[in-house]
Amino acid sequence: MLRRVLIANRGEIAVRVIRACRELGIETVAVYSEADYDSLHVHLADKAVCIGPAQATRSYLNAGSLIGAAMYVKADGIHPGYGFLAENAAFSDECVDAGIKFVGPTGHSIRQMADKAVARTVAAEAGVPTVPGSDGKAIDSGELAAVAEKIGYPVLIKAAAGGGGRGMMLAETPAQLSRNALSAQAEAQAAFGDSSIYLEKYIGNARHVEVQVLGDGQGNVIHVGERDCSMQRRHQKLVEEGPCPVITRALRQDLHEASAALAASVDYEGAGTVEFLVDLDEQAFHFIEMNTRIQVEHPVTEMLTGVDLVREQLLIAGGEGLSLKQKDVKLRGHAIECRINAEDGARNFMPSPGMLAAYVAPGGPGVRIDSHCYAGYTVPPYYDSMIAKVIVWAANRAEAIEKMRTALAGYIIDGIPSTIPFHLSLLESEAFRKGKFNTQWLEKNIGQVMPQESMTA
Ligand code: ADP
Repeated sequence: MLRRVLIANRGEIAVRVIRACRELGIETVAVYSEADYDSLHVHLADKAVCIGPAQATRSYLNAGSLIGAAMYVKADGIHPGYGFLAENAAFSDECVDAGIKFVGPTGHSIRQMADKAVARTVAAEAGVPTVPGSDGKAIDSGELAAVAEKIGYPVLIKAAAGGGGRGMMLAETPAQLSRNALSAQAEAQAAFGDSSIYLEKYIGNARHVEVQVLGDGQGNVIHVGERDCSMQRRHQKLVEEGPCPVITRALRQDLHEASAALAASVDYEGAGTVEFLVDLDEQAFHFIEMNTRIQVEHPVTEMLTGVDLVREQLLIAGGEGLSLKQKDVKLRGHAIECRINAEDGARNFMPSPGMLAAYVAPGGPGVRIDSHCYAGYTVPPYYDSMIAKVIVWAANRAEAIEKMRTALAGYIIDGIPSTIPFHLSLLESEAFRKGKFNTQWLEKNIGQVMPQESMTA
C-alpha cells in the first residue's frame, strides 16, 4: 500500500483525494500556489508545500516543482487529480524515474490515448467503432479537403491534443474548412503546444455517453456503468447523469463491453473513461476519446454503484489490484450532477471570482457536495471557475430532478454570482425534464434557459 501521497492538484478534487487517502490510512501532502494558501485542501492535508506563484505554468503545471516537493516530503505516490498534469505522459514517466508511484496509467498508455488521432486507431484495432473521419494520424492541411469530401460535410476539425472543447471547429463547406482549419491549428498550438488536427464527421443529433472503467494494469478491466453528459455549452459539460435515459439495454451492454475491451487492449491501469457519441438518428455509437484520469463527473458513478473510484485508484496504485469483480458492479436508481461555477449566467457566463460572504451547502439523504469552498473563502481568478459539484441520487430520474431542485434552491452562496440560478432554470425546462435533448440543445436554447438577472448578494 502507498504510505504518503502528494496531491498534485487544487480545489475540490484535491479535497476529494485527501478524504479517500485518509480513509485508507495514507498520509496526505497538499501542494499550493501562492494564490491558494488559504484553500481548503491546504488546511485538510497532513502537510502542505508551496510550489510557486499563482500562474499554473509556474506551479500546478510545473512538473519539476511537483516532483521536487514529493521527494522532499518523501512521498511514495503522486495523485494528479484531473486537468493540469493528469494526462501528461512525460509527467507519469518522470514520477517513475523519481521512484514515485503515479496514481494513474503508465506513460505508454497515456501516449496511446492522449493523442486523440492515435487513439482512434487504437480503438479501431480493438474493434470499437469510431466516428468516420481521417485515418487516425493527424493530417496536414493538404489532405483535409479530400478527407472531408470522402466523409461528407459538415465535418468537425479537432485538435489531436484537444481537451475542454478547444481547437474544435465546424466546417460546412470547403471554403470554411480551409479557413477554420487554420484557426483550429492556431488555437491548438496556443492551448496545447501542438497544432496537429484531424477530421471527424459532424454528428448533429447525438448524445454524449461515456463509460467508466477500472483496470489493474495486467489486462483485467471492469466497466462501472455509463454517464450521459449531453447538456453542454461550448462542448463543455454542465450537467451529467446516469444511467443514460435514452439508450436501450442492448446498446448499453455494447457500450460497456466495447469500453472494457478498449481499456484491456492497452493494459489499462487505474480509472479511465471511454467517451462516445450515440447517434440518435442511427442508434449507433462511435468512440470519440478516452480520458486517462479520474473525471470531474465521477461522483455520478459513485452514487449509482456505491464504488469509491478514488479509493480504487489508490488501491490499484498500491499494488492491491481491483477490489471488485464485474459481477459486483450493480447500477441502482438515478444520479445527477450539476457543476456550479463562479460565473454569471445572466452575463454570458462571465467568470465572477471573489469572496464568499456567506456559504451554506445543502444536505440530506442522497445529496452530496464536492467543494473546496467555505464562508470567507476567496475564489481566485487564476484557475477554472468550478466551485462545487452537487450530486444527487434517487430511486428514479423524476425524483432525482426534484432532489436536485431542492438542493440547489437551498444552496446559499452569497457575495459572488454563481451558476445556481442557471441550473435551477435548466431543471425547469421541458427538454431536461423529459430527457429529450442532444449535445446541441443547450447551445441553441440558451436564451430560453438563461436567468434574467444575476443573483448577487
Ligand atoms: P474535448 O476533448 O475537447 O472535450 P471531445 O472529443 O471529448 O473533445 O468532444 C467534446 C464534445 O464535442 C462532445 O461531447 C460533443 O458534444 C462534441 N463533439 C465531439 N466530436 C463530435 C462530432 N464528431 N460530431 C458532433 N459533435 C462532436
